[in-house]
Amino acid sequence: MRQWVVSLPHRLRYLLAWDHKLCRAVLGVAVRAVLGFYRRRARCAGVPDGRSGAVTVIQRFGGGLQLNVHFHSLVLDGVFVEAADGTLAFHAAEPLRDEEVARLLASIYRRIQRLLVRRSLDVDDARDIDPLAEQSPALAGISSASIQGRIALGPRAGARVLQIGREPGAPWVTSRGPCQAHLEGFDVHANITVAANDRAGTERLCRYMLRPPVAQERLSLTPDGLVVVTLKAECYAQRRVMQSRRARRLYSREEARPSALHK
Ligand SMILES: [Zn+2]
Repeated sequence: MRQWVVSLPHRLRYLLAWDHKLCRAVLGVAVRAVLGFYRRRARCAGVPDGRSGAVTVIQRFGGGLQLNVHFHSLVLDGVFVEAADGTLAFHAAEPLRDEEVARLLASIYRRIQRLLVRRSLDVDDARDIDPLAEQSPALAGISSASIQGRIALGPRAGARVLQIGREPGAPWVTSRGPCQAHLEGFDVHANITVAANDRAGTERLCRYMLRPPVAQERLSLTPDGLVVVTLKAECYAQRRVMQSRRARRLYSREEARPSALHK
């Protein structure tokens, strides 16, 4: 099995955070693209009519408790084919190549843009379309600031680049590592695999995908009723929240309750 993580531009995350129908539509586009990729690849390898399969967990948070709607899909790294006698045989895919991930991301990017256009949404104008702000100004404010907290991260240094297509405006996909690709705020990471017989590894990956936004051990209460979230070391560097040796961030109970950010 292979984990495919699809991340989205900040403004699209914001749209999907309150519009679950749109979230499912965008997820559908991404998953169909990945499943179609396996199907085509198998066909090219002489295996017609193969089917892959996937289970996706929609994660709504990043490690620093910021709002970050993104998808973790556990996908069969190959296809099943049904024989004439009704038995199923699995055909494992060839190792994934970086260029394939880049091309797949370019395809996901184009399809999601088309979906947004069809729904009269343009991710570049997402800031202007904000029914959430009308319904719940406080909620919108929390979600919006939480997302923009990540924009402070600088541009990718030393990224590898691949242009997809020959036309002058063809997209440039960058990559920071194996089986990872980035394009206009969209990101695909597919470098984590688990062998078919590795049950412990599968369970570890499933637990990782299903983990809650914040670990119970990182939450505590102050005497005056504030909730302390102890952030991981990487978050400390980004946020410099407090001068303490351990990075800590204080929330009111209302802010800290995930349901305050969810609909
Ligand atoms: Zn995640």
